[in-house]
Amino acid sequence: MHDTSEALAPGLYLVATPIGNLKDITLRALEVLRGATLVACEDTRQTRKLMTAHGLGGAERLTAWHEHSGPAATDRLVARMQGGASVALVSDAGTPLLSDPGFALVRACRAAGVMVTALPGPSAALPALQLSGLPAERFLFAGFLPAKAGQRRRAIEDLKAVPATLIFYEAPHRLAETLADLAALLGPRPAAVARELTKRFEQVLPDRLDRLAADIAAGEPLKGEIVVLVGPPGAESREAHDLDALLAEALAGMSLRDAVAAVAGATGLPKRQVYARALELVPHAGD
Ligand code: SAM
Repeated sequence: MHDTSEALAPGLYLVATPIGNLKDITLRALEVLRGATLVACEDTRQTRKLMTAHGLGGAERLTAWHEHSGPAATDRLVARMQGGASVALVSDAGTPLLSDPGFALVRACRAAGVMVTALPGPSAALPALQLSGLPAERFLFAGFLPAKAGQRRRAIEDLKAVPATLIFYEAPHRLAETLADLAALLGPRPAAVARELTKRFEQVLPDRLDRLAADIAAGEPLKGEIVVLVGPPGAESREAHDLDALLAEALAGMSLRDAVAAVAGATGLPKRQVYARALELVPHAGD
């Protein structure tokens, strides 16, 4: 256990910070950010805002560090820790190392025998998974797909058979083409787009991958920060099976309208999807 109630022991502290809502920060994170000799961050302006919002002071303790800072900058930080400094590593948002810098510094600390510990906290991947309505017991965090179309498609092919919910980070301007590639290569699996998590305009759009791709391509471009999730292979047939069973039961005792509302409520599926399937099962139900 790493007791942070007294002066911080020398070493590296990986500190997760909010992904939107500034209140999403742990007591321990505040303690370490207040007490660290240095706060290594991607962008000092961004981290200064967080420090100011929580009255942590210490702008003079901020130092920029990222993977592109190069080995010399990493070695300097490691030397400071060997000399007794406590260094808190933060990224602009969320958990360091998850699609963010930190890996090289952790490796360098490990190689030098410097203490490393992690303070868990926010990351966009987990709330997106929780809210998606997709299976959460097994998932694969795939980070950002490559920006180049050929590499992106190969990366998607590599993930095709993975028996888990897939989680991707994506930039808004690439969302439509990524969804189109995912739909083309993975088929009509259940999926979701989660955006602006923990912020004022938080939104989750659960739908079948092909329909999501078509809707996003046809509508206004989505803004903000985005996570794309795709259910495991086979989930599409399992979902269809569950939907059919629920619809059959509901239609036996209710009007079409009530049955669709009840099943949409129970499954979280869009009403129009449930309605379309109800009409396929009982073609004259809508007459
Ligand atoms: N380290 C961060 C984490 O733990 O989530 C991720 C950093 S990565 C550079 C930034 C990407 O994370 C964004 O492009 C978006 O895909 C995702 N992201 C970050 N904050 C988010 C939020 N509030 N809502 C949805 N996605 C978010």
